[in-house]
Amino acid sequence: MAATIIDGRAIAAQVREEVARDVDAWVTEGHPPPGLATVLVGDDPASAVYVGGKQKATHEVGMRGFDHRLPADTPQADVEQLLGALGADPRVAGILLQLPTPAHVDGAVLTRLIDPAKDVDGLTPLSAGLLAQGRPGLRPCTPAGVMELLDRHEVALEGAEAVVVGRSDLVGKPLAQLLLARHATLTICHSRTRDLPAVCRRADVLVAAVGRARMVQGDWVKPGATVIDVGINRTEDGLVGDVDFGPAAERAGLITPVPGGVGPMTIAMLLRNTLQAARVAFG
Ligand code: NAP
Repeated sequence: MAATIIDGRAIAAQVREEVARDVDAWVTEGHPPPGLATVLVGDDPASAVYVGGKQKATHEVGMRGFDHRLPADTPQADVEQLLGALGADPRVAGILLQLPTPAHVDGAVLTRLIDPAKDVDGLTPLSAGLLAQGRPGLRPCTPAGVMELLDRHEVALEGAEAVVVGRSDLVGKPLAQLLLARHATLTICHSRTRDLPAVCRRADVLVAAVGRARMVQGDWVKPGATVIDVGINRTEDGLVGDVDFGPAAERAGLITPVPGGVGPMTIAMLLRNTLQAARVAFG
């Protein structure tokens, strides 16, 4: 195997330690501990695990957690009311609505109701607009985590050919904008892209955020490229990414594994965003 493996678990642990240190200093200065409110509607087991992980991590870095779990049949109006109350609660620096929501509740409408100053998931239209305009704001956690991995490995982005496969509002689009803001030459690919392998082969930095197990083949990777695999796919072989890891690692210079690559970064960046929101609110 030629590539150096990017250890997302280790880097996420470093970020969490840094946030814990910064929270400690913040509280020592006399501020209240930043509060993160999570809102989960329904009993989807995977979502419950994600929210549990976020709350646990919140406590571990010295922040306050507000864990709101609502029954699956909660009317949309009640969730709206809760989001409004959390927006007005000075103990709450960050609000996260766990997606997807049950079918009768409109997650997109609810996301728009989150106070933008507390939008630690970075998914409200205001946060997306600030990112698109290259202005400061709260950035979506997974794309921010990818940038952190690239930076900790000092991957040169200015002028580099970056190819992002996937254009979701959650990952592909915001990540593309973050890379563009760092002066990468950017290509965004999606399900209608022609000759995807050829486009990927141009990439100095290749990001897969698709949700299709091992779609990106080894020979799509330019020798020496940095390959970031955002995909999480449950298969008979367990969790795998969107990149066919073994063959891709033969050609890449740097590569993230799945699991243990991008995944752990999301919560770490959520914690950092919560502290950032508290600083803006109380600083
Ligand atoms: P999504 O909303 O389903 O978007 C998938 C994107 O992939 C779409 O833009 C789609 O194109 C594109 N696509 C689908 N099939 C394709 C193909 N054959 N060739 C090229 N592009 C194709 O997914 P997402 O929310 O962005 O998530 C992507 C993956 O990342 C998933 O595996 C998800 O589980 C994972 N994820 C991981 C984390 C984490 O690590 N913490 C966080 C979020 C997501 P169209 O737009 O044309 O349909």
